[in-house]
Amino acid sequence: MNLKEIRSAIKFVHKTCKCIECKKSYLMDNIHIIATNGKESLMELKCPKCKLSVIVSVTSGLEHELELQDHTSTSAISKNDILDIKNFLTKFDGNFKKLFNTKK
Ligand SMILES: [Zn+2]
Repeated sequence: MNLKEIRSAIKFVHKTCKCIECKKSYLMDNIHIIATNGKESLMELKCPKCKLSVIVSVTSGLEHELELQDHTSTSAISKNDILDIKNFLTKFDGNFKKLFNTKK
């Protein structure tokens, strides 16, 4: 995705997504890009109220059509989601892998 597409993707998420737990709307500050490739962007949405994190992928369609997929429907990010992200990242430049290798 180019910058313009990423921006419109963020706007789209900002407009359409609410926390699945407490229904609070996200602020622009709560939306973080994890990774992006040609057609898709992975974003982390962190609820400003209950701090629940969800990972969503946004696909840019032919025009400005964006498709949103919820990767998580539960309160915690599952191992499968992490695997999904890793698979996603293998297609992408290695820089973002650091995020997942750091142990806290
Ligand atoms: Zn919430």
